[in-house]
Amino acid sequence: MKYIIGIDVGGTKTAYGLFDNVGNLVCKVKQATAAETDGPTLSDLIIKNIETIVEKNNLVFDDLEGIGIGMPSFINNETGHIYMTSAMPAVKDFPMRDYLYERMKTRIVLDNDANAAALAEFRHGAGRGARHIIYVVIGTGFGCGIIIDGKVFSGSYGAAGEFGHAIATPGEGILCGCENRGCYMSYIAGRHIPERVKLGLEGGIKSRLVPETTDGETLLKAYKDGDLLAEKMISEMAAYVALCLFNVYQMLNIDLFVFGGGLTALGDVFFDKIREEFNKLYHIPFPVHFKISELNDDIGIIGAAEFLR
Ligand SMILES: [Zn+2]
Repeated sequence: MKYIIGIDVGGTKTAYGLFDNVGNLVCKVKQATAAETDGPTLSDLIIKNIETIVEKNNLVFDDLEGIGIGMPSFINNETGHIYMTSAMPAVKDFPMRDYLYERMKTRIVLDNDANAAALAEFRHGAGRGARHIIYVVIGTGFGCGIIIDGKVFSGSYGAAGEFGHAIATPGEGILCGCENRGCYMSYIAGRHIPERVKLGLEGGIKSRLVPETTDGETLLKAYKDGDLLAEKMISEMAAYVALCLFNVYQMLNIDLFVFGGGLTALGDVFFDKIREEFNKLYHIPFPVHFKISELNDDIGIIGAAEFLR
């Protein structure tokens, strides 16, 4: 029997999954990721962990069909070259696939983590049976994975789906890591919530929110207690998500959006507003479906393993 290892590398933790030849998850391991790590150090750690997993499951290296890795990076999925990684700034301009292949001599596929999640939902989750889907991650960041005719669409440089950095308000708003002001990311992503709380308070809105401690959970709680700034922020986030997805829909005409990421915990409060805002813009009678991701925690390792199938 041949096995596949799927690895989901995140800015705070990395998950490893060992899958058998029919896709059953046989073994799962999680480990903290050091944000200051660089490409070679991260790769050496990955190799060491793979060796441990192989050994612990009484396998040998030849039992592996290959290794799939989802990276939170701007990456060329054909060459496995990493250009940049905002969660781990030192993992940049690094030929990660070649580095790993030199040392392991097994098939290795690297791609963006949003593409991994999109593939996982398309084959095993909320996208089953569809022809095309857009997977939308709303968490620390905001972006998409695009599946067209059953395949990940990566674009010319591997960065298709990075729609979070499309511009909503040119020259206005929070400065994002993409070096522009007013991209969708700056209105929607969890990492920009503290700064938006600060701006709201400076603008004179009464609120119990504290910039440093506000995340999705505290925001939702404050919203439910009638906090004006929380209400404004959630409404604004929903409006920008809807605007962004409407534009994506106009471009690609894909009728299924699957949502994942930590901020999906905002629940109906948030998604009812997104639907309402989307419908304000949408005047055609064909349905556009919004679904929540079905695969939860294992989505990253499932998708990474699917890169090899
Ligand atoms: Zn941006």
